[in-house]
Amino acid sequence: MTEWISNLFNLPELAMPSFGIASILDIALIAFVVYKLLGWVRQTRAWGVFKGIATLAMIYLVAYFLGMHTTVWIISQTVTWAVIALMIIFQPELRKALERLGKGRRLPFLTFLQEEKPDNSEVVVQEIVDALQKMSKVNTGALIVVEQEVPIKDLEASGVLIDAMVTSQLLVSIFEKNAPLHDGAVLIRQDRVKAATCILPLTAEHLSSELGTRHRAAVGMSETSDAYVLVVSEETGAISIAKDGKLYRGLTKEEVQKMLLSNIKPQKSKRFSLRNRK
Ligand code: ATP
Ligand code: MG
Repeated sequence: MTEWISNLFNLPELAMPSFGIASILDIALIAFVVYKLLGWVRQTRAWGVFKGIATLAMIYLVAYFLGMHTTVWIISQTVTWAVIALMIIFQPELRKALERLGKGRRLPFLTFLQEEKPDNSEVVVQEIVDALQKMSKVNTGALIVVEQEVPIKDLEASGVLIDAMVTSQLLVSIFEKNAPLHDGAVLIRQDRVKAATCILPLTAEHLSSELGTRHRAAVGMSETSDAYVLVVSEETGAISIAKDGKLYRGLTKEEVQKMLLSNIKPQKSKRFSLRNRK
C-alpha cells in the first residue's frame, strides 16, 4: 500500500510511522484546518476553483491507472505553476485570512505591539445611523465602509482625503445628490471620516438582478476585509449591510445600530444568501 502511494506521487519510500499522542494531535489539527478551509472555500469564489482542482485530481488518477503518461506528465508539470497562480489570484483572500490569524486571540504579553481596537463608540455609531436614516427617508444613495480590525489603507488612495470627525451632517452632505463628493464610498476609521469617493472592488458573485454596482461594490469590499459596508439604496431607500461577503438587506435603524455596536450579525431571516438568488 505504502509502496503504491509512493509510486503514485513519486515520493521516496514511505515507512509506517509509530502511532502515539502526537499522531492523534497531528490528525486532529489537520482535520480542523481542512474543515475550516472547506468552510472558507465554500463562502468565497474559491469554491469554483476548488471544484476545478478536484476535477483535475480525478483526471490525474484516472490517467495514472490507465497509464496515460503524457496526461500524467502534463498535469504534474502544471501543479507548481498552478500553486503560484492560485496564490496570485487569491492574494486578497489570503491576506485577509493571515491578518485575521494574526489578530485572533490577543496574547497578553504582546498587547503593547498590537494596534488599538477600532473605536466605533456609541456616539460615532449613533451619528452614522442617524445619517443612514436621514438619507434613507429621501432616497439618497450612500456607500460607507466602516473599518474594523483589518486596516484598509490602500482604499484612501482611490478617493479624496477628508479626515474629519464623524457627524451625521457631514455624511449627509457628502452624499447629497449634487455634491462633488457624493460618488463612490466614504471610509470611516474609528471616529474619523478618512476619505470620500473611494472605489471599492466589485464582487464576482451573482447578486439579485435589482442590485446594481453600489451593492456589488459593498459585497466586494466585505469579501476582502472585515469591514462593515453600509449601503443606502437610491432606488428604494433601503438600508443594507455587507459583512464577510454577505449582504443583509432591508435593515431597521435599530438593527444597524446593534450590529455596529456589538459586531453581531442580524437574524438569519434577514440574511440574503448569495447562492439563493432570484
Ligand atoms: P441603488 O439601489 O442605489 O440604485 P445599485 O446597487 O442599483 O444602487 P447603482 O445604481 O449602479 O447601484 O449605483 C451606482 C453608484 O454606486 C455610483 O454612482 C457610485 O456612487 C456607486 N458605485 C458604483 N460602483 C462603485 C465602486 N466600485 N466603488 C464605489 N462606489 C461605487
Ligand atoms: Mg441602481
